[in-house]
Amino acid sequence: MTPSVAEIRDLFRTKGLRLTRQRETLYQALAESKSHPTAEELLQIVRRLDPGLSLATVYNTLEAFSASGLCRRLACARGIGACRYDADLHDHVHLVTSDGRVMDLPIDLGEKVLSRLGPDVLDEIEARTGIRLGAASVQFVAP
Ligand SMILES: [Zn+2]
Repeated sequence: MTPSVAEIRDLFRTKGLRLTRQRETLYQALAESKSHPTAEELLQIVRRLDPGLSLATVYNTLEAFSASGLCRRLACARGIGACRYDADLHDHVHLVTSDGRVMDLPIDLGEKVLSRLGPDVLDEIEARTGIRLGAASVQFVAP
């Protein structure tokens, strides 16, 4: 997924987030990445484009993206610094490898998994927890 500059502008406007050159660079890199990068990994990807970027800026920007719904922060087992981020907001299924990489399942296989959850299960989760669900996020983890 490689969003155009116009698409990025629209997206930021829709989410009510100010678009700066750094944010555009970081969002573009995150959207193009298939690896669900951590802040540190994303910094390595964009450092060539913007050598002045700091890890703190990347981290704060990713948190702002997550808070405004521009990307998802994936559940992180090893502390917030190791969190991975995903700009793909469609419901899809992740596979976490034993060395900590996160891959997307092929779309058709992910749809098969998610279709088995069914609206009745999602309704029951909402009813029993009292928490309204925004999206389904399923991951399988290798030992
Ligand atoms: Zn993903």
